[in-house]
Amino acid sequence: MKNEGKFKRICAYCNEVFFAKQRTTNYCGPVCGKRGYKKRKKEELLEENLQELHRDSQEFDMDLLNKKTYLTVKEACAYLEISRTTLYRLRKMGYVPQIGIGAKVLFKREDLEDAFGGLTTIENFE
Ligand SMILES: [Zn+2]
Repeated sequence: MKNEGKFKRICAYCNEVFFAKQRTTNYCGPVCGKRGYKKRKKEELLEENLQELHRDSQEFDMDLLNKKTYLTVKEACAYLEISRTTLYRLRKMGYVPQIGIGAKVLFKREDLEDAFGGLTTIENFE
C-alpha cells in the first residue's frame, strides 16, 4: 500500500513518507485518510465555534442580559459564553430547558443559571 505510486508524499496524518499514484493524495492509506478527515472536521468545528462565540459575545451588553427574564438563542449563548452548537447540544441532553413560543425559541435566564449553577462537569459531552 505504501509504495504504489510515483509521487513521493508525506502523510498528513502520520507524517510517514509514502508513494502515491496521484499528486493530490494526502494520506498514506484509508486508515490515515479517515483519521485525518475526522481530525480536520473537528478542528474546523472548533474554529467555527470560536468565531461564532467571539461574534456573539461582542454583540451584547452583559448588564442588559443580566436584567432580562427571557433570552433568545443568541443572548443565551452570549450569557453563558458558549457557542450555539454547545447550547443546542446541552438542550438536547436535557440540561437546559427551552421555551418555545411559536417558532421562536427562548431560554429563561433563571433556568440557565440553575442548569449551570449546580453543574461542575457534564458527562459524555463531546
Ligand atoms: Zn499515514
